[in-house]
Amino acid sequence: MIIVLRLGHRIDRDKRITTHVALVARAFGAEKILVDNEDHSLERRIESIVNRFGGDFEIETGVNWKKFIKKWKGKIIHLTMYGLPLSRVIDEIRKEKDLLVIVGSEKVPREIYNLADYNISISNQPHSEVSALAIFLDRYFQGEWERKRYNGIIEIKPSRKGKEVIDKLPTAEECIDILRKVGCSENVIEHCKKVREVALKIASCTDADKRIVEVGALLHDIGRSRTHGIEHGIEGAKIARELNMPDVIIRIIENHLGAGIPREEAEKLGLPPKNYVPKTLEEKIVAHADNLVDDNQVIEIEDEIRKQIEKGNIDYAERLRKLHDELSRICGKDLNDLLKEK
Ligand code: SAM
Repeated sequence: MIIVLRLGHRIDRDKRITTHVALVARAFGAEKILVDNEDHSLERRIESIVNRFGGDFEIETGVNWKKFIKKWKGKIIHLTMYGLPLSRVIDEIRKEKDLLVIVGSEKVPREIYNLADYNISISNQPHSEVSALAIFLDRYFQGEWERKRYNGIIEIKPSRKGKEVIDKLPTAEECIDILRKVGCSENVIEHCKKVREVALKIASCTDADKRIVEVGALLHDIGRSRTHGIEHGIEGAKIARELNMPDVIIRIIENHLGAGIPREEAEKLGLPPKNYVPKTLEEKIVAHADNLVDDNQVIEIEDEIRKQIEKGNIDYAERLRKLHDELSRICGKDLNDLLKEK
């Protein structure tokens, strides 16, 4: 696993360059970027690229890097013009599988030079974190990035002239046809339509991608064609993969249960060990719209929370409350009130 750590991000000045550090990390093979200072609009920009272009690259901002480095088990690479030449150590580094690659912005704290297993220079001339990271990842992966295939909602066809782009997102009508074809009952289809209506209403007061929300909501219960058990999210994701659906839709289906199922709970439930928690805004909206629809009627979240507390599902009830509050905050009003509006 390659994780990039971006230090010294200044929200007001580094909007473009940190976005580019993240895009380079994604395009050239890293799995995740951590950014020291909290920046939700940066998170959304990257999420939206991942949603459209595919893959499962992740971003986390507001990261306490000292704590993270303390727990990190792999090697630490710091890119700096004061370090050893890349060519001298790259073969040795290539033997390592888990790397934390640190790039700075203005001045990197002195202790990073000591914490790093390798301080590496990409020439000893000053240039930029974007170029340094791109060259490091290219040399580490030896051009492997060129063979990587993405499963986005848009696909670019290489062309000598002009722009050729294929849109792979099904229409709403196609989604309903797909649900019927895979064997969903009319009840399930009606439920999916209601969840679409609620999800689009929530999405309307956010900057979420409305097409992704609509398709995700319509297909979220596709797995009910095989089972109505807790595993219908995972089964649904399998069906979506077989149908060559974009990654963003597969993730919405897989992470839509309740307010998400964290890895430890998934293990207890006998599900394949994985974190099934909705991460992007679109995933959260569909998961929560489903929480707010019972028997094709819109309910108040308090009813569901009370029900879960009575059943002893305290952690789940808390996750529901947190998700409801987070989306209400983004919408600028309580979702219970929003959904009563005509
Ligand atoms: N004086 C700073 C330093 O400590 O390297 C330069 C700041 S530079 C604008 C921002 C970042 O770009 C650095 O923290 C480093 O990660 C990267 N960088 C710039 N030039 C580099 C080089 N020649 N080799 C490796 N990394 C470089």
